[in-house]
Amino acid sequence: MLKVSHVTKYYDTLKAVDDLSFEVKDGEIFGLLGVNGAGKTTTFRMIIGLLEPTNGTITLDGVPIDYTVTDKIGFLTEERSLLTKLTVEEQMIYYGTLKGMSKNDILKELDYWLDRFHIKEYKKRKIKELSKGNQQKIQFISAIIHKPKLLILDEPFTGLDPINVELFMDVMREFKKQGSSIIFSSHRMEHVEMFCEKLVILVKGKSVLEGSLKEIKKEYRKKNIHIIGDVDIDAIKKLDGVVEVLTFANEFIVKIENDSIMENVFAIVKKGKNISEFRVEDPSLNEIFLSKVGEVYEG
Ligand code: ATP
Repeated sequence: MLKVSHVTKYYDTLKAVDDLSFEVKDGEIFGLLGVNGAGKTTTFRMIIGLLEPTNGTITLDGVPIDYTVTDKIGFLTEERSLLTKLTVEEQMIYYGTLKGMSKNDILKELDYWLDRFHIKEYKKRKIKELSKGNQQKIQFISAIIHKPKLLILDEPFTGLDPINVELFMDVMREFKKQGSSIIFSSHRMEHVEMFCEKLVILVKGKSVLEGSLKEIKKEYRKKNIHIIGDVDIDAIKKLDGVVEVLTFANEFIVKIENDSIMENVFAIVKKGKNISEFRVEDPSLNEIFLSKVGEVYEG
C-alpha cells in the first residue's frame, strides 16, 4: 500500500503541494487529477524519491521510499525519458538491469510485451526512429517490465489513439488484478471515469475532493434529467432548484440542484405528450471536476 501523509512541498516560497494525504491500497487504481500546475508531477516526483517533501512522509508497505525499494516501483514520467539513440532492446536491457532483472528475463518479457503491443518489428530499431505513440509504448513497457508493486503513470494516455488507450488500460487492469497499486494522472475525465475507483482532485496543490468515484457521485447531489417529448419546458425552467436547461434537436437536459426536485419536474413532464424518455443521470466526472475547480478559483 502507498501512503502519502500530510505532504507539503515548497519551491522557494511557492507552495506546490499543500498538506496532501491519500492512500492507494494493493489492487487499487487511483486517479490524481488537477488543472495545469496543480501539483501532480511534483507529487509523483516525491513518490518516486526524485524530490524530498518539505514536510510529511511517503511510504510503500510501511517503508519510506528510497533507492532500496525502487525495483518495486515502475514509472512513466511526464517528460519522457527514453534514451533515443539506443535501440528498443538496448534501452530495455539498460532499464531492466537497473531494476535488478537478469538479461534473460528482460529479453523474455520484452518479446512478450512487444508482441502484445503489436510492435515486434521495432525491437532492433533506434527509439528516435519510432513514432510518438510507439515511443510511448516503449516507455510504458520500461515501466512495467519488472512487474512493479507500485505503478506510477503521469499522463499515460497522452498522444495515444483510442485503440492504444484501451490496450494500456487492459494492462493496467491486469496489474490491478495481480495486486499492484496504480496511481495515474490524466486531464481526460472520461479516462478516469472508465476505470479508476478512487481519486483526488488538486487545486493549487491542495486536495479539494477525495474519495471513491461512486461516493463522490452520490454525494454530489446535482443530477441531469434527460427528457424527450413535448413538455412545457418553460414551466420546468421556472421551478426552484432547476439550474439550467439545455435544448437539443429532440431532447432536453434539465440540470437540477439536488434529487428532491426530481418529483416537481416529473409532475410537469407527466402532463406532456409523446414522452419517449425520462431518464435521471448522475453528472459526469467532468462536470464535478469543473464545478469543484471553479468553486476554488471563484471563491
Ligand atoms: P501539469 O498538468 O501542467 O503538468 P502539474 O499538476 O503536474 O501540472 P507541477 O508541475 O507539479 O503541476 O507544478 C506545480 C507548481 O509548482 C506550479 O506552480 C509550477 O510552476 C511549480 N513548479 C514545478 N516545478 C518547479 C521547479 N522545479 N521549480 C519551481 N517551481 C516549480
